[in-house]
Order: sequence, then structure tokens, then C-alpha cells
Amino acid sequence: ASSHVLHDMERLQNCLPEFRSKYRLIKRIGEGTFSTVYKAEDLQYDRYDNSWDLDRDADRWAPPPIKTSDGDGPPPPPPPPPPPARRRRPKYVAVKKIYVTSSPSRIHNELELLHVLRGCQSVCPLITAFRWTDQVVAVLPYFRHADFRDYFRNLTVPQMAAYFRSLFTALASVHKHKILHRDIKPTNFLYDPVACRGVLVDFGLAEREGYDGKPCVCHDDPAARMAKLRPLLSSTAKGGYPREDTRPSRRANRAGTRGFRAPEVLFKCTEQTPKIDVWSAGVILLTILSRRFPFFNSVDDVEAMIEIATIFGQRRMHSTALLHGCMFETNIPTVGRSGFSFEAIIQWSRDQPKAKLPDEEKVAVDFLSRCMELDPARRISAEEALHHDFLKIGLD
Ligand code: ADP
Ligand code: MG
Repeated sequence: ASSHVLHDMERLQNCLPEFRSKYRLIKRIGEGTFSTVYKAEDLQYDRYDNSWDLDRDADRWAPPPIKTSDGDGPPPPPPPPPPPARRRRPKYVAVKKIYVTSSPSRIHNELELLHVLRGCQSVCPLITAFRWTDQVVAVLPYFRHADFRDYFRNLTVPQMAAYFRSLFTALASVHKHKILHRDIKPTNFLYDPVACRGVLVDFGLAEREGYDGKPCVCHDDPAARMAKLRPLLSSTAKGGYPREDTRPSRRANRAGTRGFRAPEVLFKCTEQTPKIDVWSAGVILLTILSRRFPFFNSVDDVEAMIEIATIFGQRRMHSTALLHGCMFETNIPTVGRSGFSFEAIIQWSRDQPKAKLPDEEKVAVDFLSRCMELDPARRISAEEALHHDFLKIGLD
């Protein structure tokens, strides 16, 4: 470890006196926008302590063998069967040092939602938290995982199904508690491709369902919505921006990561639902199927809209915008009227425009199209997704 990392670790150990007697920091494992995460050893670890149940779902699916390189050698031996379900306290923990610049309400929100979600399958539980003046650290069980970029190109369809079974199990239980994660992306879903298990982490942007601003027209029935939008439509039909735009300016939560934001987030919908997480999960699947990471690479929301419009076409993007009371028009030549099918996008991304997708992959593409449905009301929910044929692949 470099000297400044060691210096930071030393400082953290010293600023929290009780912490020092309980945990020994080992190394830095992550540095995000809002925190630094260290791997640490639990000094009071006792292997006979059975208060922690981390193997709850270990035997839910038999893992297919994983290929980690493109080599042509003999296939790797199948992994050993998962251990029988047992309860144990983790020896290693992840210590998340939340930056002191985060607001106290934000830090409180993250810890509180983790507490609410304790016991949810495939969600990384909170063990404890410490505070010393303005410094807060959260302690979570350490979860072994691989870097997404190292395996996403090599997943077979059954392995993809295992990944999304685990992710959607987490999403379904989070959404059942009426909580939106808001930042679903590969670095926040720690996946072990050998054990075929993952856990959802990072509730730093998560929030409870509901809204505090004005309602969005997307929740009106279509006739009521069109009545409200008629003035907007007639002024833009004459060309250009409405001269006297009477719509109030809108503020909506746009928290999340570029490239993973759902269309309703981009169009500043004020009544966002857990479906925004399902869209982001869909973007992960699109990344895996197209073998391109990152798939979307926009610098801002307008570019992100253009990228989505390139796939779906102007017509559908226009109605999606209207759904939330916005106009979408573009004269960018690469954005066609009707867009492309996901199958075509995936074939082009793989530089195989002519190769037909195998049937199993078509099931994955159908699942993808249900997750990346532009209208959140028609998009599949996490609970429904668990019953889709794609997530049954490789189960028996
Ligand atoms: P941030 O809010 O800074 O993004 P995260 O909670 O996403 O913080 O953690 C950042 C990184 O730290 C993760 O992407 C992951 O690599 C690592 N990490 C977080 N929690 C754990 C854990 N329980 N086990 C192992 N690694 C973890
Ligand atoms: Mg994160």
C-alpha cells in the first residue's frame, strides 16, 4: 500500500478508540465518490459465534463452471458444491469510512435504510457503525467478489441468469420495503462469479418511495394528461420552443450514475418509483449481452437522452417525454424515426451483424426489453422479473 493510504489507515484507527480494539485494518479496497472502503479483520472473531447468517441462500442454485479467460484450454473443473447453509460471524469486514463532507442527514439515511433492510436476501447487512465527531464508519461483512470488467465478456447465458437472479432477489426485497436504491451499477453489486452469488451494497443514494414535489402527469390517465399538454403541443407544432411556457419549472431527484439513469429520471419525473432500479439493472444486462462497458457513455442528461433515443427512435422517445410533460425533438441524423431492436443493437455491438442469436440468448433479450421498457408503468417489476423464463435458466 502506498504511504498515504497507510497514513489514512493509521489516522482512522487512531481517531476511533473503540474501533481500534475491535478491528484491524488490512488494506484499502475501494474509493468511491462518497467514501473509502477498507478490508479489516474482526479482532473479536469467534468461529463458534453464530449470530450472523451469511450463507442463507448459498444452496439456492448450483453454479455452472465459469470461464475466466478466452483461452482454448481444457474446461476448468466444476466448482465444489456450495457448503451447507450455516450461520457464522464473518472474520473479515468491510469498513466504509464516509467522507466527513457528506451531510449528517445523508449519512443517517444510508445507515437507517441499511438497518431497515437487514435480513433481506442478497443485500449486504450492516453489522455496526461508529462515530467520532464528524467521522462515521459503517462496518459490513466483507464479501469476496470479482471486478465486473474481468468477467462480463465471458458469461454464459446460465451464468448471466445466476447473476440476475441474485441481483433481482435483492431488488425485489428492497422494493418490497418501498425503498429505491437509485444507484444500481456493477460496482454496487458485488458478485462472486465462482460461487454465483452477489450482494447489493451502497445505499448512499437510496430513498423511500413517495414524492415531496408536485405530482407528475405520468400518473394521470392518458386523456387527462393530453388535456394538460395540449397548449404545449400546439405551440411546439408551430415550430420551436413554446413562446410563453406556462409550465412551472421542475425539480426532481436525479441522483444516480451517468449511463444508468432511467428515462423518467432524465425527464425529471417527480414521482419516480422502484422501476428506476429495474431500468439500471437492464443497462447492466445490455452491457453483458453487447460485451461493451460502459455501454452508455454520456457526459450529461441531454446526451444520455440522445443515446437512448438512438436505440428506441424519435417517435417512442417523443411519447416517453410527453408522459412526463416534456418535449423531445432532435434533428441529429443518427437518431432515426423508429430506432432498432435490441437484438440488432447487440449483434452490431459484437461486430456480428449477421450472426443469429441462440434461443437462450433470445430469452435474455426478451428479459432485457422488459427491463428497459421506456414507460415505467409497463416496465417489469423486480418481483415479476423473478418469474421470467430467463431467470429460470440453469436452475435444474
Ligand atoms: P461508495 O458510496 O463510495 O460508492 P460503496 O458502498 O459502493 O461506496 O463501496 C465502494 C467499493 O468498496 C465497492 O464498489 C466495493 O468494491 C467495496 N466494498 C463495499 N462494500 C464491500 C463489502 N461488504 N465487501 C467487499 N467489498 C466492499
Ligand atoms: Mg458505490
